[in-house]
Amino acid sequence: MSTVVALDVVILGGGAAGLWLLDELHRDGHRALLLEASALGSGQTIASQGIIHGGLKYTLSGLLTSSARAIRDMPLVWRRCLAGERSPDLAAAHLRAEYCVLWQTTSLSSRIGMLGARAGLRVTPRPLLDEGRPEPLRDCPGVVARLDEQVIDPESFLTALSDRHHGRVLRIDLASGLEFDCPRPGEVERIRLINPDTGDPLDLVPRHVVLTAGAGNDPLRHRLGLEGTRMQLRPLHMVAARGPLPALNGHCVDGMHTRATITSARDYANRTIWQIGGQIAEEGVTMDPDRLVRRAQRELGEILPGWKPPAVEWMTYSVDRAEPATRGGRRPTDAAAQREGRTITAWPTKLALAPLLAERVGRLLSAPAAPGGDDLAMLADWPRPAIATPPWEECRTWITSSWERPASA
Ligand SMILES: Cc1cc2nc3c(=O)[nH]c(=O)nc-3n(C[C@H](O)[C@H](O)[C@H](O)COP(=O)(O)OP(=O)(O)OC[C@H]3O[C@@H](n4cnc5c(N)ncnc54)[C@H](O)[C@@H]3O)c2cc1C
Repeated sequence: MSTVVALDVVILGGGAAGLWLLDELHRDGHRALLLEASALGSGQTIASQGIIHGGLKYTLSGLLTSSARAIRDMPLVWRRCLAGERSPDLAAAHLRAEYCVLWQTTSLSSRIGMLGARAGLRVTPRPLLDEGRPEPLRDCPGVVARLDEQVIDPESFLTALSDRHHGRVLRIDLASGLEFDCPRPGEVERIRLINPDTGDPLDLVPRHVVLTAGAGNDPLRHRLGLEGTRMQLRPLHMVAARGPLPALNGHCVDGMHTRATITSARDYANRTIWQIGGQIAEEGVTMDPDRLVRRAQRELGEILPGWKPPAVEWMTYSVDRAEPATRGGRRPTDAAAQREGRTITAWPTKLALAPLLAERVGRLLSAPAAPGGDDLAMLADWPRPAIATPPWEECRTWITSSWERPASA
């Protein structure tokens, strides 16, 4: 005999977008459940650099369009959540840094501050005095500025959010434990789950289905009979260095674009991990790991002039950014949520935009009405998903080549 549960909303995918949405819907009185096919945050959230952007990057590249202006408010929203002053209470999440730095490698240009101010950003760069500079930037000849964009640790953020909703997050077996009864495109009438541990069936009868499965959204749309792709994938090949490195969190800005973004995490043995992204990760998709590491070493030599690096180990990881499709495959600047029938497909585009996305999805839903309130006690024994593991914790073979610096550095 299968158990039947009526719900206001079923969310598929438990990264930043799905978990934030679950929290918001629960607070708004919806009877909501989240289904996760792997570990929470697998894919982008766990691999991300965790910067709570306020729009400066978009301003630099001329992309801060009117639709993207909402990102300006995100640093303050997150800051209040991380301080436990606003829901969701994320006080249990760890901060990697209170702020980012922004630096340039030449002393010629000092436009950074003016740009942010002109675009009306809430968070704008302020020059850092020499003694406030991070160690690797002490000899940097250009401007070094402080930008009040916090950097979060994605793993503890995922933990903090999912801990609040333990009984509302279920692990599913995508291959053989998930079936949709969807007579017309997007009109899901029933979702049949098979318990991955016991084999028992469970039937969910949702009023709405929200897809927040990142790269998994398009395959799910296909299963729900929804036509056409709404998604674009942008591949990245990121570099990580591990060793006695000083903390560094910020962007090296070259002209109008971000040359490299470096963030600092701690691994299980309390070693510093530098995650290195930005332009180098986009160019790196055509390179093998050894070549990309050599390229990263040369790049760091150029963007951290005069700094003597310690001996470190290296690894690389590949990850696709899954975003709403744009004309010509351009980089999107806004979160996207689209309703077709009872189904909503959603991508935050950025971790920082998860609160905005949740708000927008909420506006596309009918008022809560599922019977039974929020009591989901009948699901107490269903298996729960784990939190995803950061890519560097899964790497078994690190590259130990010595750090090459360019001849001029
Ligand atoms: C290298 C990198 C660095 C980044 N840095 C930043 C940054 O510094 N700041 C920022 O704001 N943004 C950053 N981003 C972007 C940000 O990470 C993403 O926009 C955001 O994490 C996307 O969250 P999501 O929940 O939509 O997707 P994901 O995090 O990809 O989560 C999708 C979830 O759905 C699950 N799933 C997949 N298919 C199914 C299915 N069929 N059924 C059920 N579950 C399914 C997956 O297992 C996963 O848990 C970065 C992205 C990358 C790749």
